[in-house]
Amino acid sequence: MSQTLTDPTKAAQALKERIDRASSVVFFGGAGVSTASGIPDFRSEDGLYHMKFDYPPETMLSHDFYLTHTKEFYDFYRDRMICLDAKPNRAHLKLAELERAGKVTAVVTQNIDGLHQAAGSKNVLELHGSVHRNVCQSCDTTYSAEWVLGTTGVPTCERCGGAIKPDVVLYGEGLDTATIDASVQAIMHADLLIVGGTSLVVYPAAGLIQYFGGDDLVICNMQPTPQDAAASLVCACDIAKAFDF
Ligand code: ZN
Repeated sequence: MSQTLTDPTKAAQALKERIDRASSVVFFGGAGVSTASGIPDFRSEDGLYHMKFDYPPETMLSHDFYLTHTKEFYDFYRDRMICLDAKPNRAHLKLAELERAGKVTAVVTQNIDGLHQAAGSKNVLELHGSVHRNVCQSCDTTYSAEWVLGTTGVPTCERCGGAIKPDVVLYGEGLDTATIDASVQAIMHADLLIVGGTSLVVYPAAGLIQYFGGDDLVICNMQPTPQDAAASLVCACDIAKAFDF
């Protein structure tokens, strides 16, 4: 029996009740968790975008583009994908608090901004990688997002001169199997799965939640998702407000 709440206060209360009842909670989050912190969805085009870039985001975010237009890729990466000013919102902070309390066992995220770790979460499974790891393809030295922001043109390894690639999954690249496996295990063993900030239509989100075997599925998303009917609770409000309890 599905209940949909649009009022943020009621949604937060209902979400809290379900978390209180649960013993093992997993959170699965998409772009909406980050946009609630003011991070623009770098996959989308806006007015500013067209003034700056000659290619659509899906082109600039591809493995081929990284290889063949490395300078343009890094211009886009520095300008659109690294957002170091953003701060964790109530959802990030509450999830970290619930992990410390032993409730939340894992956060599975499609976001690459590191905000869950900034909020204090430890077990964060980053399906699409992180802008905070930029790895030399020759010697494996890892560079921070701050370091990349301090470079111009195509950054190269300070130790060996090798090419550096962000540890971010680009179009045309596969997801890390160990991260997928850990996400499947976490979801399988949860008795409450909270899915937030994703429309659940794109891979891998839609596939991963199929592994959930518990009876309490909560969806926090402004827009309806194809899984709403399977959820016991739908919080159709700002995700940061749904976690404000
Ligand atoms: Zn190197």
